[in-house]
Amino acid sequence: MTNSYPISRVASTLCLLCVLIVTSCSSNSLNQADYSLTLPSARIETREAPSPEELAEKTKVVILGTGTPIPDAFRAGSSIAVIHKGQSYLFDVGSGAIRQATIARYKYDIPSLYPSQICCVFLSHLHSDHIMDLSELAHTLWWRRGNGLQAWGPIGVEPIANTLDELISIDANFRINGVQPVSNPDGFRVDAATITPGILLQEDDLTIEAFLVDHGDIDPAFGFKIITNDLSIVISGDTAYSEVIAEKAQGVDLLFHEVISRQGLEQNSPDFQRYHNSVHTTSNELARLARIAQPKRLVLYHGLFYGTTEASVLNEIEALYDGEVILANDLDIFTTDSR
Ligand SMILES: [Zn+2]
Ligand SMILES: [Zn+2]
Repeated sequence: MTNSYPISRVASTLCLLCVLIVTSCSSNSLNQADYSLTLPSARIETREAPSPEELAEKTKVVILGTGTPIPDAFRAGSSIAVIHKGQSYLFDVGSGAIRQATIARYKYDIPSLYPSQICCVFLSHLHSDHIMDLSELAHTLWWRRGNGLQAWGPIGVEPIANTLDELISIDANFRINGVQPVSNPDGFRVDAATITPGILLQEDDLTIEAFLVDHGDIDPAFGFKIITNDLSIVISGDTAYSEVIAEKAQGVDLLFHEVISRQGLEQNSPDFQRYHNSVHTTSNELARLARIAQPKRLVLYHGLFYGTTEASVLNEIEALYDGEVILANDLDIFTTDSR
């Protein structure tokens, strides 16, 4: 089950219904209708620049993956796409995210989500569940890429980019030096930049800022704030309770935040409870953060449930926070009304 969430138009009672639907379906069988597509797929797509229609569209957010390191039949690894003026900016790229990008490209008619059209990825940290599809993203149809992928990440991202070059070098050699036409012999290269806190990108009504969060001994780890002409978004990445997120997310349209179930945490061994407490945000801590930040919408992703039902995580938060909370599913889409 996927859902679309226009910002500010839907009455809160309807949203409550959406949440109930999401909750009831996400742990059940896969619905074939989830993969019904609006356009034919399996097409070669190249384009030099966004179309005038794309440039005129409002900002959209598509959740490509809501999962964690735990294999999940219904949730790809962590990844959120912000689509603005004909470009797709990915925040993390966990396992299966690029498959979901392909589905979203046709399901929602978003050309910039075609894998070889995705320009940019921002990595919150270098845990495997946030980077496993980096090769998939950089190398899918690389010989037809106009430009190589641009990647921002914590220290370590540049050696990873070099390793990806090595990974694809035999394929690149076959294609470049064989009879296959190759439009860009450097299309497989990842242009990597190491993040320092602050503004990473500022162009054309879009600002992307990175800030440090507390992911325990996984340091540095970053959250992101994205401001466009019509949406304000904060993405937590993986983090323990971090006051900086409450500050950055003050009144934003959308706060995407990871969560671990308080009840589920108690099912873990003492060692894992200690670990999770130091690196993730429990449902009651997230409710406290949301009460301070007061986002227009709190969207849960990267949920660690550990034996509890997904609905129970919502219940845990809603018992302590009366704002709107949505438990996201893969391929949910968020858009905005005009202002
Ligand atoms: Zn993670
Ligand atoms: Zn992590």
